Amino acid sequence: MKNSKKLFLQANKYIPGGVNSPVRAFSSVNSSPFFVKRAKGQYLFDEDGNKYIDFIGSWGAQILGHSDDRILKVLNKTMKDGITYGAPCQNEVLIAKKVCQIYKSIEKIRMVNSGTEATMSAIRLARGYTGKDKIIKFNGCYHGHGDSFLIKAGSGASTFGTPDSLGVTKANARNTISIEYNNIDAVNNAIKGGDIASIIIEPIAGNMNFIRARKSFLQYLRKVCTKNNIVLIFDEVMTGFRVSKAGAQHIYNVIPDLTTLGKVLGGGLPVGAFGGKREIMNHIAPLGSVYQAGTLSGNPLAMAAGLKTLEIISEKNYFRDLSKKTQYFVSRFNDICSKYKLDMSADSEGGMFGIYLTKSKLENLKDIDKSPKHIFLDFFNYMLDHGVFFAPSMYEAGFISSSHLKKDLDYTIKIFENWAKQK
Ligand SMILES: *Cc1c(COP(=O)(O)O)cnc(C)c1O
Repeated sequence: MKNSKKLFLQANKYIPGGVNSPVRAFSSVNSSPFFVKRAKGQYLFDEDGNKYIDFIGSWGAQILGHSDDRILKVLNKTMKDGITYGAPCQNEVLIAKKVCQIYKSIEKIRMVNSGTEATMSAIRLARGYTGKDKIIKFNGCYHGHGDSFLIKAGSGASTFGTPDSLGVTKANARNTISIEYNNIDAVNNAIKGGDIASIIIEPIAGNMNFIRARKSFLQYLRKVCTKNNIVLIFDEVMTGFRVSKAGAQHIYNVIPDLTTLGKVLGGGLPVGAFGGKREIMNHIAPLGSVYQAGTLSGNPLAMAAGLKTLEIISEKNYFRDLSKKTQYFVSRFNDICSKYKLDMSADSEGGMFGIYLTKSKLENLKDIDKSPKHIFLDFFNYMLDHGVFFAPSMYEAGFISSSHLKKDLDYTIKIFENWAKQK
């Protein structure tokens, strides 16, 4: 870790906390980060020559694995024709059409540069469309770092004990009602006061570990939103093209009014998007009076990488094979938990999984908060020391790419068993 440690010292001089996104700092696991020199397929290689099996995949974005040759080829070719135009290009149309074909809830879509921008724009649109101000979100869900969402937020905000960020105005906080996930009574209470423009939810939560919404809960949200002229937003920045090709909404068969996307959609380049019902999307400028724009939005390189990624994951059996791989991993993990009587378990959907420090079924953020952190730290550091990279926080989910091989999963299970043995 010599070179990484040296880089981190320098980084801390010039970058707050030494990183450009908080969870990367590893302070939550009483450690300091490795610096990546190179990434290929399922592996990361650090500045000291260590190799890691990567179960994060740039937080879910790298569904094909890192530096996929097909994506590199497309990027090389596209780059020769320019890097950014600030004017429309064909791939913007092709990727928009492709997303609309995959998601039956999306009739029109707008590209942005991150998931944060997607959710910020989606709630502005919901407010503009309904003429109402308040939004409802759920404790532990993470929707990027927009002011309106940093109320009981998940992911890094939970990891670092700052779910309610400083710097968010009282006026902003007042318009966000954050309530318990999977709790219908809480929803009924929250909408009683009226003025709700939108309910936004991760239909499978991936920022308070991996927690499934109950189907009846999502169905209820759909019903209550329709009845009260509330825009239902599914934030599928993480789950879109990940738990299934058409996201969690396909699995649950619940149709939101708007969907936000990101991560996989950009094929590893910075892309987010929001889309949905034509009638709502037509309120966006230049058609309508809800303003939204972006200098680099629809960037030709990002569109090309995204489009190619969507083509590959649309190939026959892609998701069946990815799901099987993840299920294999999770079931072997659970076998080890039983064999050594660990109070741990795992669950998965598509190419996304959760590892829990309990055997009980998880319903909401409180269930994750109860997890024994010292056991997570021990687990995380042991795995990392043996070349297996899980997220450095018990509030994050895990990801498997189509590059992961059975031997990588078997090796990971072997290391886990070695850890379990000495517990
Ligand atoms: C990652 C994520 C975001 C934020 O996306 P960024 O690209 O990091 O801004 C929003 N919502 C969900 C569900 C996410 O997982």
